[in-house]
Amino acid sequence: MRIRSQIILSMVSAAALIGLVGGVAIFTQIAATKYLGLTEATNVAQELADTIVFKSSDGTPSLFERPEALKQFMQHQHRRMHRDFLVLDRNKVVVAHAADEEHHVGDKFEHDPNNEIGQTLEDGVARRFVDPEEVNAILAVPIEYPADTIIGAVLLEYDPVLHAAEQRTNGLLWLVGLSAAAAVLVAVGFAWLLLSRFGAGLNDMMRGMEALAKGNAMTRINHARKDEFGQLADGFNTMADQLASARAHVEDIVETAAEGIAVLDGDGRIASANPAAAMMIGRRADKIVGQQWDAVLTVRDQRGGAFATGASPVEMALATGRQHQGEVRLTKSDGSHLPVIASCSPLSRSDGGLVLTLNDISELRRAEGVVNERADQLAILNRELHEKSETTTRLVKLGELLQACVTFPEAFSVVGTAMTEFLGGLSGTVHLTSASRNLVEEMAHWGDVRSSVTQFAPEDCWALRRGQEHVAGPGMLTPRCAHITENGKKGYVCMPLAAQGETLGILHLCEPNAADKPQWLAERQQILRGVVDTLALALANLRLRETLRQQSIRDPNTGLFNRRYLEETSSRELRRMERSAQPLTILMLDVDHFKQFNDTFGHEAGDLVLKQVAATLIEHARDSDVVSRYGGEEFAIVMPGCSLEEGAARAEALRQAIRQLHLTHRGRTLGTVTVSFGVAAYPEHGAGWAEITNAADHALYDAKGEGRDRVVVAKTSTPGERPSIQLVSAAKASADIKG
Ligand code: GH3
Ligand code: MG
Ligand code: MG
Repeated sequence: MRIRSQIILSMVSAAALIGLVGGVAIFTQIAATKYLGLTEATNVAQELADTIVFKSSDGTPSLFERPEALKQFMQHQHRRMHRDFLVLDRNKVVVAHAADEEHHVGDKFEHDPNNEIGQTLEDGVARRFVDPEEVNAILAVPIEYPADTIIGAVLLEYDPVLHAAEQRTNGLLWLVGLSAAAAVLVAVGFAWLLLSRFGAGLNDMMRGMEALAKGNAMTRINHARKDEFGQLADGFNTMADQLASARAHVEDIVETAAEGIAVLDGDGRIASANPAAAMMIGRRADKIVGQQWDAVLTVRDQRGGAFATGASPVEMALATGRQHQGEVRLTKSDGSHLPVIASCSPLSRSDGGLVLTLNDISELRRAEGVVNERADQLAILNRELHEKSETTTRLVKLGELLQACVTFPEAFSVVGTAMTEFLGGLSGTVHLTSASRNLVEEMAHWGDVRSSVTQFAPEDCWALRRGQEHVAGPGMLTPRCAHITENGKKGYVCMPLAAQGETLGILHLCEPNAADKPQWLAERQQILRGVVDTLALALANLRLRETLRQQSIRDPNTGLFNRRYLEETSSRELRRMERSAQPLTILMLDVDHFKQFNDTFGHEAGDLVLKQVAATLIEHARDSDVVSRYGGEEFAIVMPGCSLEEGAARAEALRQAIRQLHLTHRGRTLGTVTVSFGVAAYPEHGAGWAEITNAADHALYDAKGEGRDRVVVAKTSTPGERPSIQLVSAAKASADIKG
């Protein structure tokens, strides 16, 4: 029920209640008046009846017994009370009356329609009745004397009593009626006043509320009034101000938010979209609003694949009314893609709808990409580091192995086996420059391909010429080295093996398959450098060691082994021959009159003679022979496997060869050089080195003694066993050789 109706109803109810209370009061008053009038009349009548039968103690008869006195008494009462009385006897016959013209003494009273008086005379109970002829209300009260004996009745007209009471009640009735009417009027007036003021205020409030409900936050209510509606209007306006300010704040946030925000209605139409959403979609905001969301938004899953029907977050949120969120890829109108997190939050409105938030995560994805890239780079670096550390370990091992090698062949054997593994199966060689520096020779080879000749001149290699790494191959402008065989015109690299300021040779490496491995060299560059450095250092050390060794075992002037080396070697050789039951011959020789060369041509010339004699000895020596300078101008040759005869013959040949030398020094001819030989052999001259050399020395001494320039074979201890060659003279031996 509306408040207006409630007010009217309340007012009407109040008026009705006032009227009802008045009516009840009037009715109660009338009833009370009637009751009091009757009681009063009954009391008066009873008093009269008691007075009429009263007998004084002096024996005077009662008024009832004296009709004249009764009549006077009644008239007196009539004057006093202005009422009519009748006194009847037991037979309803009038005994006396006062001011009543119609009844006479002696008449029978017949005006009680239902014989009410007869009944009262019978049972003694007072009764009322209305005289039909005179329309008067009459009360009949019994007269009893003595007690319990009804002798008559008093009739009293009590209309005036009632009338007076009614008159008093009527006044009250009017008062109450008028008061009720006035109360109703006042209530109606108040109702009207209330309604008119209340209604206006209420209407203003209603209008304001409705406008606000429709979203017009700028609506305000006139608040000029000073009553509660004025206060309510003030409150409403303050609330509307705050709402407008909050709304402006929210609108500012939505407008400036970096996230795309769009509101969709329950049918999936776009109700509004902020600038960020419009930018992400790639269309103007006013072109989007009112359209179906899927007509302007192309969403795909995060890998760019299409969503199954109803599976996109927007469709799921629209269908279920629950929140859905997921990463999607937006395809903009220009065809570009944008990774976003799409959050769909259903609105709590009866017609459904949702708020779609689009959060651009392209920066995040880009950053992720960079992080992944860095992680990959880190992994590569880590791998490289690991490989490097492995490579370093292997290089160190290679270095250790090479350092352990005593000779070049040992070192090259190590290189040959290690390189295949080191250089990932690539074929290659190590070439060393000869001591004479005019030849470069292959010392080690590994792999299946042979891309260089085994020997070449140093100038045939660009790496040796320039002293730096040389790379050539298909598509490169650098010239190919002359030592490279065709090898399908594949790429190769030559790296100089340089250490301690000296270039020892090169390491040559051949490209595996140009098409497959464009980076073949780059990816091995470091290990290659490591290998080359290690190898060069090891070879330089070996060469140095060799040089030192040579210096310790050779005579620097002639290049022959020295006596220490001869003795070391020969003892060993002698044991070897002993084991294999082979002979061994030793030649001891001394230049004849050498002192004269020194003295005549100078020391330099003497050195020249020694060098030439040594060269002749080397020239005629076998690989197994050990040719040494025994001291001064004395030489010794140990010939393993050579018998005494053969040794003597070779000594003779040497003697003659030396005689053939034509030496000149500074333009001067030095003259003929002759040499004396002493020959001894195992087993003929003993089993020990000292015995045999001693025998040879003695034979030499003999040769000197016998005139020099000859070969003398040492004597054996038993003359019968002396080999025939022992007697071969210098001339004979010479003739034998010539022959
Ligand atoms: P003989 O025929 O008896 O052997 O006489 P000889 O002069 O050859 O022998 P001798 O022992 O008297 O002299 C050897 C000389 O050789 C003495 C020494 O000065 C010289 N001599 C030793 N070693 C060298 C050397 O390395 N160079 C030069 N130029 N002379 C040397
Ligand atoms: Mg001599
Ligand atoms: Mg000598």
